[in-house]
Amino acid sequence: MNKNIKLIVISAFLLLFVSNSFGQGRGAQPVQFKKISDRLFEIAGGRGAQGGAYIGDNGVLIIDAKSDKQSVDQVIKGVRQITDKPIKYLVSTHSDGDHISGNRYFPATVTFVAHENCRKEYFHPKQDGTPSEWEGPELASFVPSITFSDKMDIYLGSKKVELRYFGVGHTTGDIAVYFPEEKTAFIGDQIFLTRPQLIHSYKGGNSIEHVKTLTKMLQTIDAEKFCSGHSETADRKNINIHIDQMKKRQEKVKTLIEDRKSLEEIKSEFKENEARLIEAIYNEIRR
Ligand SMILES: [Zn+2]
Repeated sequence: MNKNIKLIVISAFLLLFVSNSFGQGRGAQPVQFKKISDRLFEIAGGRGAQGGAYIGDNGVLIIDAKSDKQSVDQVIKGVRQITDKPIKYLVSTHSDGDHISGNRYFPATVTFVAHENCRKEYFHPKQDGTPSEWEGPELASFVPSITFSDKMDIYLGSKKVELRYFGVGHTTGDIAVYFPEEKTAFIGDQIFLTRPQLIHSYKGGNSIEHVKTLTKMLQTIDAEKFCSGHSETADRKNINIHIDQMKKRQEKVKTLIEDRKSLEEIKSEFKENEARLIEAIYNEIRR
């Protein structure tokens, strides 16, 4: 646990052995609001990825939706314990199910916002080829209705939230949701600290672009804290290390391809849990 973050357990019931497609049958931790400032909270626990909540002057903005009703109910309850201002916006950092499945459990009066590529990916067939559930008319009002290409600011009264797109990477539509007063950016799955980076090639994600995208992010915003969907909060040094490690992997794969090694031989040169990432890099270089 990050020592600098005061932990507030807002809701404390444990959901045991509730199984869904994201939980692999394990009990989820209760939803927790971790205070970053009086207005900004990271939302951990529950089913699905970590997200955030920002309390503006006249409303609340949520970052990523978690993935089931119980978790969303706990998020809403947590917000209600901090403020009675309405939840106005829900911003998706990208299109993965563990970040967007819960949209449908928020009130339909919430405005859903995402990058234009992320909205397209809502309708992308799943990795196994089955059609997207978001095609269904019953979910239409929970799909992002406002999109942007490079940048968009959302004002909650006098408070500005900066949505920024720096390019393709983990998917084609990942963004940074930046809070300048807190120097904190929510970047979804663009950084993993404890496991290899996921690159969703089937959606158009690309590791070589991911390096460029993160580099551009560091050059463009002066964030000091980066909240991740699945890791502890990262700092600029963590992001730079992540970029360097990714470049080193890419260079090694390139050299091994030049040495006429097969994919299996190349994978065996890396850690077992890096196999998916190495295959993605291999396909990018061979393309
Ligand atoms: Zn995720």
